[in-house]
Amino acid sequence: MSAIVSIEKYTSSPESLKKSIELCEGFKNLAPSDRVLIKPNLVAWDDQFPIAPFGVYTTTRLVEDLIICLKDFGCGNITIGEGSVQLKKDMGTFAAFEGLGYKAFEKKYGISLVDFNQSKSKIFTYHDENELHIAEEAVDTDFFINFPVLKTHGQTKVSLGLKNLKGCLKLKSKRHCHNPASGLEFSFSHIADFVKPSLTIIDGIYALEKGALHFGNAYRKDLIIASTDILGADMTGAKIIGYDAGEIDHFQHYAKRCGKSPDLADYEIRGEKIDDHIQPLKWDWTWNKDNTGPGIFEKLGVSGVALPKYDDSLCSGCSPIANMSNILALSAFKGQPLPQVEILNGKKMQARPGYDKTVLLGNCMIKANKENDNISEAIKVKGCPPSENDVVDAMKAAGLDVNILAYYGYMKQQSEKYNGKEGYETEFFITT
Ligand code: SF4
Repeated sequence: MSAIVSIEKYTSSPESLKKSIELCEGFKNLAPSDRVLIKPNLVAWDDQFPIAPFGVYTTTRLVEDLIICLKDFGCGNITIGEGSVQLKKDMGTFAAFEGLGYKAFEKKYGISLVDFNQSKSKIFTYHDENELHIAEEAVDTDFFINFPVLKTHGQTKVSLGLKNLKGCLKLKSKRHCHNPASGLEFSFSHIADFVKPSLTIIDGIYALEKGALHFGNAYRKDLIIASTDILGADMTGAKIIGYDAGEIDHFQHYAKRCGKSPDLADYEIRGEKIDDHIQPLKWDWTWNKDNTGPGIFEKLGVSGVALPKYDDSLCSGCSPIANMSNILALSAFKGQPLPQVEILNGKKMQARPGYDKTVLLGNCMIKANKENDNISEAIKVKGCPPSENDVVDAMKAAGLDVNILAYYGYMKQQSEKYNGKEGYETEFFITT
C-alpha cells in the first residue's frame, strides 16, 4: 500500500491541521496513553538581533493546534523537545521556548518542555562505527511528531523532516555530522533510523528562500503537509518549493538505505494538488567565479581579499562568524583594492597560494591548515567557535579596516525586514 501524504490549505485553527492529520491518517497508530514528543524547528535564538520568525521557526499557532488535536484525541502525556543552536551565552533552547510563547503551553495544557542540549543521550552507531548521540527523550517516546518548516538550506538545498531531526542530537554529534569524511547529508540522513518519527508535519504557513538564521526571504504559503512517512512528506515539501527528490542527496541516502521509493508517483497525495502550489525557491547564494567572495563583491568591484564559499563542513557554531566576516570585509572596501588576505572557515578549506596573510577562523581551520605550505603568514582565530571580537581583531590584524557597526546595521536591517509588511504579522508566533 502506498504511503499517504496530505496537503491542506491553512484557513483556520485548529481545523486546518486537524483535517490534514485526518487526511493522511496521521493518528492511526496513536493511542491516548502514548507518550508523545513534538519536535518543532526552533533553530536558534538571538536577543541582540532577533531572527525574523517567518519561515525560520515552526509557527507557535500550529504547535498549539497540534496540542489541541492531541488533547482532543485523549493524549495526556505530551512533551515538546528541541536542541537549539546556542549562538550566545544563555541564548539556548529555553530562550527560544520563552520568546515564541511555548512557556504558556506548560500551564495551559500541562505539557512539558525539554531542552535536548541538556538531556542525557543514547548512543547509536552507523556506517563503520560512526556514533550519533541522541537526546534520550527523542528515542524513549511512543509517538514522535516531527514538525519542521517548509524551507531551503544553503548546504542541503532543503531543510525539512529529515534535517529537522538534527536538533535531537547532542552538540558533539551535530558537529560530527559536518565531518568531511562521511559528509553532512549522508551523516544526518541516519538520525531517522533511530528516532523514527510516527508523523511528520511540515509547517508551510511560510516558506523560506535561501534559508538561514537571519537571512533568507519568507513567502506566505498557508500550506500544511503531513504524512506518517517522513520521506513522502519531505519529497512533497521539496517539490512544492521546486526540488525533485533526485536533486536532494539526503533523500537519496535515506531512500536507498531504507528500501523506500524516491519517486513521488509511488505515494498517494490527498487534498490539494501539488502542481497548484509549486513555487520554486532558491537555496544558494551566488559566489564569484574565482571563489573569492559573495556575488555582491564582484558587482561592487571588491578585490584583494578572498572569502571562499562556505562548504558543508561549516557547522552552526561557526556559521554566524563566517557570515560576519563577509559583511566585515565589505565594510573595509572604500573603492580601492583590499589587502591580499584569504579568510577561511569550516573544517576542510585549504589555503591557496598568492595571499600575504591567511585568516583561519576556528580550531578546525587551524588544524586543517597546519601544514599548508601555501600560507605566508597565518592569523589564527582560536575557538570552537571563535568569538566575534577575536574575528574582528584578526581581520584588523590582517590589514582590513573593518567596521563592526556596518555588521550591526546589516543585522538590524535583517531583523526588521518584514516590519509592517502585510501577511507577516507576528500573530502566528504567539500563544492564543
Ligand atoms: S571550530 Fe567551528 S567548524 Fe569547527 S567544530 Fe567548532 S564551531 Fe564547528
